[in-house]
Amino acid sequence: EIAGRDAVEDGRTKKAIPKGVVLDKDGKPCRSCTSFHEWAAMTRKKIIPPQSKETPSTTATATFLPPDCPPDVETLGRSTWTLLHTIAATYPATAPPEKQTEMKTFIGIFSRIYPCWVCAEDFRQWIERPENKLVPGQEGGHLGGRASFGQWMCGAHNEVNRKLGKREFDCSRYEERWRTGWAD
Ligand code: FAD
Repeated sequence: EIAGRDAVEDGRTKKAIPKGVVLDKDGKPCRSCTSFHEWAAMTRKKIIPPQSKETPSTTATATFLPPDCPPDVETLGRSTWTLLHTIAATYPATAPPEKQTEMKTFIGIFSRIYPCWVCAEDFRQWIERPENKLVPGQEGGHLGGRASFGQWMCGAHNEVNRKLGKREFDCSRYEERWRTGWAD
């Protein structure tokens, strides 16, 4: 199974790989779509993260991750959310029309080039829902200013949190988390 998806639906060959390992368009395992944990299960090696002091009894059954290795789906996701939320938190309080168009273009391109293709596919579906559509110049729309765009971004992230079985973030605290710092 490919991350809970039907491989036939995606037109790709089903391979005998552990659940959770996602294949890329070329049929090879997609690193930025898969967590280090699942990657380790596939290679049948124990993966030891860079910070660990652990010494395995035999290097044949362990892989040491260097601190500068390519990101897995989680590392990439954390860094990307930091960028996206920081962009939303520094968006103008009231956005002029050209900023709104620019942001819509950015999100559209982002949703097509995000390296975790399964993540990108679900994100594209979410932004296409009528209630989530980004429409520049729309009265009361998501792109009108920082507050509304931040809530939109918070909703996008919560959609992924729900999908992964994580706790939802309280979007009323969005500005504190990503702009002002926590109130005492
Ligand atoms: P993250 O979810 O990365 O969150 C980082 C920090 O953001 C948290 O510590 C918290 O302080 C804050 N935060 C959490 N929720 C919100 C919110 N709603 N609003 C504002 N701030 C918040 N991974 C998958 O395995 N499958 C997917 O399909 C998938 N899709 C993704 C789609 C996108 C567009 C992105 C950017 C990432 C996706 N990811 C996906 C990665 C996933 O969302 C996480 O980044 C990853 O699992 C690491 O999670 P984390 O618990 O470290 O915190």
